[in-house]
Amino acid sequence: MQAEVITIGDELLIGQTVDTNSAWMAKKLNAIGVSIYQITSVSDEKEHILRALKDASERSDLVLITGGLGPTKDDITKQTLCQYFGSHLVMHDDIREKIEAYFASRGLPALEVNKKQAEMPSNATVVPNAKGTAQGMWFDEDDTVYVSMPGVPYEMKCIIEDHLLDMIEKRFDRPHIEHLTVQTAGIGESMLAEMISDWADSLDSEGISLAYLPSPGIVKVRLSASGENKSVVQEKVRRKADEFKSIASEFVFGEGDDQIEDVVGRLLEERNATVSTAESCTGGNIAAKLTSRPGSSKYFQGSIVAYANEVKINQLGVLPSVLEAHGAVSRETVVAMAEGIRSNLNTTFGVATSGIAGPGGGSDEKPVGLIYIAVSGPKGTVTEELRFSSDRSTNILRTVRKALSLLRNEILGLETL
Ligand code: AMP
Ligand code: MG
Repeated sequence: MQAEVITIGDELLIGQTVDTNSAWMAKKLNAIGVSIYQITSVSDEKEHILRALKDASERSDLVLITGGLGPTKDDITKQTLCQYFGSHLVMHDDIREKIEAYFASRGLPALEVNKKQAEMPSNATVVPNAKGTAQGMWFDEDDTVYVSMPGVPYEMKCIIEDHLLDMIEKRFDRPHIEHLTVQTAGIGESMLAEMISDWADSLDSEGISLAYLPSPGIVKVRLSASGENKSVVQEKVRRKADEFKSIASEFVFGEGDDQIEDVVGRLLEERNATVSTAESCTGGNIAAKLTSRPGSSKYFQGSIVAYANEVKINQLGVLPSVLEAHGAVSRETVVAMAEGIRSNLNTTFGVATSGIAGPGGGSDEKPVGLIYIAVSGPKGTVTEELRFSSDRSTNILRTVRKALSLLRNEILGLETL
């Protein structure tokens, strides 16, 4: 079966409100085997809404609509649905009484416009809204089901969770849709694609689709498949995800919504290991991530934000001769910083960063975006040279994630590239 979403509201088209309703609905519907074919946003204008309804009905079995159900004149969805179906509004006394009781409980009179919210199109089945006065409406016409709901996100969610999912499950035969997301850090989208290209080619014959979802320092890889038998679909997606995880094991840090700082924190805790950071270009951001996890005091000892050379020398023991010979942004300096913090704070691992975060401060020899990371541990010190772009905040975020990924590999005793 195919479904689509129409969100109605001028505010969506002038950039005043971001359409979060569609994303939430798509996730919920996917979980019960309903795929969304299209999401359309239209204005609070009759002709625009009528056209969107007609177009949707030609493609989809289920059309979910939000917005335009408020009591004020700018909201016209209900009247427009009546025109679309050739039906008329009928007063529902039970709903009107509920609306009056709702206002009475707040010590307010129900205005005429509020009572009018109890009028429903004659061909609608009411889908109750426990959190507001605008009810949901279900129309089953010419083999297409249309559901109209208020735009207010928590009211829409309440209607869907309390009633609509059950109604959809009863009305439609659906396959099972399985999505499995694997999280990687420390490798770019193209490099990753090249690394897994043979494996990716094998997905077609299994009916599994693959998507890359990149953000600074992190690439999520999503596998999706659908089929009649839930356990068969789940098993094949799981098997392919496990294959992917073994091919890219060095970069894979988790699944679903896992965060790399939580994964690293868990690994440190399991091994009774500790960590400290000496941060120049990341300005304490690695420490901030590591301490964002509850219970991080078990493994996080402390950090020195070593921006100035004097701090690198006096607090971390970096030799002035190293700084003179190689500069603050160099492999040699970052190694000395990581080893210095590890020894000063007596931790299992020491993590250090130094670089030119930008947008200014670069030279031909050391361009903006040149960053060094070092992780010092029981097996020695590993370093990484990175060359990012000129955007400061993106450079910092990527460096933080790369440093946590390197730390993860050192904890696991894996080799690094
Ligand atoms: P309405 O049902 O048109 O009265 O919508 C009421 C409020 O819900 C609007 O003022 C928006 O703030 C919010 N809203 C409407 N549509 C959406 C949407 N698609 N995503 C997120 N919020 C929305
Ligand atoms: Mg509106």
